[in-house]
Amino acid sequence: MGKTAESVWKNCLKFVKDNIQEQAFETWFSPIQPIKLNENILTIQVPSKFFYEWLEEHYIKLLKIALQKELGKDAKLVYSIVMDQKYSGKDPYTVRIPSSNKEKLQPQEIDAPLPIDSKKVKNPFVIPGLQKIKIDSQLNTSNNFSNFIEGETNRLARSAGKAVAKRPGGTSFNPLFIYGGVGLGKTHLAHAIGLEAKENHPDKTVLYVSTEKFTQQFIDAVQSNNRNDFIHFYQMIDILIIDDVQFLSGKKGTQEAFFHIFNHLHQKGNQIILTSDKPPVDIQDMEQRLISRFKWGLSADLQVPDYETRFAILKHKVEKDGIEIPEEVIDHIAKSIKTNVRELEGCLNSIIAQATLNKKEITLELTQKTLANFINHTRKEISIDYIQRLVCDYFKIPFEQIQSKTRKRDVVQARQLAMFFAKKYTKASLSSIGSQIGKRDHATVLHACKTVKNLSETDKVFRGYVEDLNRKIGVE
Ligand code: ADP
Ligand code: MG
Repeated sequence: MGKTAESVWKNCLKFVKDNIQEQAFETWFSPIQPIKLNENILTIQVPSKFFYEWLEEHYIKLLKIALQKELGKDAKLVYSIVMDQKYSGKDPYTVRIPSSNKEKLQPQEIDAPLPIDSKKVKNPFVIPGLQKIKIDSQLNTSNNFSNFIEGETNRLARSAGKAVAKRPGGTSFNPLFIYGGVGLGKTHLAHAIGLEAKENHPDKTVLYVSTEKFTQQFIDAVQSNNRNDFIHFYQMIDILIIDDVQFLSGKKGTQEAFFHIFNHLHQKGNQIILTSDKPPVDIQDMEQRLISRFKWGLSADLQVPDYETRFAILKHKVEKDGIEIPEEVIDHIAKSIKTNVRELEGCLNSIIAQATLNKKEITLELTQKTLANFINHTRKEISIDYIQRLVCDYFKIPFEQIQSKTRKRDVVQARQLAMFFAKKYTKASLSSIGSQIGKRDHATVLHACKTVKNLSETDKVFRGYVEDLNRKIGVE
């Protein structure tokens, strides 16, 4: 009397809990619901077929002992499996399968959302039973901390990363959200954290995955009806690193799965590390509940490196590669390339390539030549603002004047030249040029273009201005 499915299951759980590791218990037993007790038959609900197979393969002996203690020698177990049909448009339904009570199930082929390419794997966790799961962390060992040069512009992100690697899940930096523009070291730092965390905590499972790969795995899992398995797999990771989460934008299904994974991991105190090309608030088409979770921990940005950091990165790289380069060359590259670390490295590589191919020494002269090509190639589009500043600079006129209403002759001339070059070098419309240069209308711009053309045909001095400016805009 008084026995219910709940009470029987509760006692079983107590027994199981004492006999397996906590994480395994959390993963495989917490999600189970007792449903029905019919004399000596207990029905439990499990979230997926994969779950049932896993229990049967690894825990059936334990379950049998626990159940017999509760319900006697003839105790039987029935699984009710939730079949997730959400994505094929049907409602979920359950199937009932009595426990085989066999010593061991035949090994089955399971499509598990593994971070490795082969899709057909016997079981995803390699080591069966009560031990910890073993997976390939997908970390690139060359992206480590000793290669990641510290500077003013990455100090916060780097030291937060170090702290997380020391005590994953144990700091308030959970999630650690690293953001910054392209080529500023997000991926490198993410790997470095993973590598160091693994070194400090060999017992923890670390997994790096790009958002593209994560999304693809999710789509595959849904198509093969393994959505729950996908989620469970990721929910078992101790330190999860997801790169470029801005690519989750607009992907509702993947966002939802990620939400469940995030919550589970965060609740268990597991570490989550995310990178993105923009801060959480600026990510478009992302569920609000995710954005707010991104902000729970620490958001740290990587900024464009300053000269000192650029210099140090280049110096580190040439020393590591054992290449002899004069300091003035490193100085020149560090001064010329200000965009990001990837371009800095690209530029250094092309100088090394030039020198090697032509069997020349790396000199300042060779560097300047190579750089001129490099910069011309990667030139940004010329902006109206840039043109105005160049013209002002040329005529030594303050920038405010060209923007003002003044009709002073030299300013009018400068303004007209700026309009002429804006028309020549940008795709902006006449009215857009007018509104950006002293708030004039399109007719004024048209008039300016005609005037410049006429004057440069008749006035030699004026023609000199046009040629000078043309060269400057085209070359600098
Ligand atoms: P992101 O993921 O932000 O686009 P990456 O991590 O791929 O940028 O970095 C681009 C390149 O710059 C990589 O080769 C990386 O090793 C290098 N890099 C970035 N930051 C640093 C740094 N602080 N020290 C050394 N190398 C760096
Ligand atoms: Mg990256």
